Amino acid sequence: MKKVLSKKNLWEKTPSWIKSTLGRGLGLIPPKWLLGKSFRENCKFISDAQWWSEEQAHKYQLNKLREMLKLAYEKTEFYSRMFDSVGFNPRDFQSLDDMGRLPMIDKQVVIDNLSDMCTKSVDDKDVDFGSTGGTSGTPLHFYMNANRSSVEYAYLTTSWERAGYKLGMPVAMLRGRIVNPDRNGFRHEYDPILRHHYYSSFHMSHENMKRYLKHIATIGPCFLHVYPSSIAALARFILRSGTHAPKNIRGVIAESEIVYPEQRQMVEEVFGCCLFSCYGQSEKLVLAAGCEHSDDYHVWPTYDYFELLDDEGNPVTTPSQRGEIVGTGFINTAMPFIRYRTDDWATYVDNHCEACGRKHTIIRDIRGHRTQEVLIADDGSEISWTALNMHDDTFLRVRQFQFLQETQGRAVLRIVPADGFGEDDADRIHRNLGRKLDCRLTFTIELTEAIPLSPRGKAIYVDQRIQQEKEFR
Ligand SMILES: [Zn+2]
Repeated sequence: MKKVLSKKNLWEKTPSWIKSTLGRGLGLIPPKWLLGKSFRENCKFISDAQWWSEEQAHKYQLNKLREMLKLAYEKTEFYSRMFDSVGFNPRDFQSLDDMGRLPMIDKQVVIDNLSDMCTKSVDDKDVDFGSTGGTSGTPLHFYMNANRSSVEYAYLTTSWERAGYKLGMPVAMLRGRIVNPDRNGFRHEYDPILRHHYYSSFHMSHENMKRYLKHIATIGPCFLHVYPSSIAALARFILRSGTHAPKNIRGVIAESEIVYPEQRQMVEEVFGCCLFSCYGQSEKLVLAAGCEHSDDYHVWPTYDYFELLDDEGNPVTTPSQRGEIVGTGFINTAMPFIRYRTDDWATYVDNHCEACGRKHTIIRDIRGHRTQEVLIADDGSEISWTALNMHDDTFLRVRQFQFLQETQGRAVLRIVPADGFGEDDADRIHRNLGRKLDCRLTFTIELTEAIPLSPRGKAIYVDQRIQQEKEFR
């Protein structure tokens, strides 16, 4: 149970009528000042640090890790036990390579040891409770610093600036927030400090999307901050209704879900601007973002100590090779995550970006939670959902869709139809997907009124009910 409200939570939980009343005055003050001194200092540090040399970044990481390991060892029973079991004392920590001596932890370890992993009382006012969603398996609960938001937000906004965002620009948000309807049934809320317009991504009906777009067109030069699935739904709506995207949208920032190449292409075409993506987790382990010239993810070296490891636990340093993302976050000192296996996998590109010159680790094709993304063919082989994601008009008159699979070689494609969906559409879906599936998997179409999203409002494309023996990656 969470008790004390941190400053950020307090503002978030303030009723919207109070916010809008206060906001009339606050709207005149630059957000950088409203967000406070710590935020401004973080922004300055981060803006500079992104241009550091590799040596500077490594030195910083070494110091941060030293602090973090010492804190974890001295203040938590869990890490004290673990370090002792491998004969590791943080005092002997000399180089980044020493990290390899420590065991890795994963979600199950955190679930089993939660109460022994905190560096201070969970009732402390500086500690917040957090959790990550997930429809299959147990959600992960953890604790984190209440003051993390100003650091986190500084990293995000500094990343977004590469896409042309400027602090103070209005942002239209379609990201799983519960937004209640106003008197006129319009699901919109406004936060005058952050200048965020929230729309409900749980209610993407034809009528509501029309209202969202009409409203977005009135908020001036702005950015959209979205889940890839919610912006793809909006793009399909624009395509099938034959309208145009509002001209005042300067860029689309997509986070929290995988960005599929087909989705990126469609969104960029429909909105006529760039889709910029960031990768991060609620546990604040690793943060990576694109740059001015490239969609590849640049891993922030000052946010965390990042490792990409192969099946044997060795660092991946060969371009095109895949590895699991293992993170040691610097932001969360309330409950350190040290060498945490994220279960997300990525392709190694380089140790710097040719295009922008930043000396960051560059990765691409981040994929996670694979079991939700594969269908099992007749012969037991796996068909990646990515391969079935269509960029053409296949799903034009479809609001939402999801495969449900309970039997090898067969699946049900659940569809929430958009206006005008008819037999022609069902035929086209059968034909186009059938071409890709090549008789390896047959499916029937089932029309439904709604497809449940994950608790955080993210789309789940494959509801996979077959227990898979081998781990897919
Ligand atoms: Zn770059």
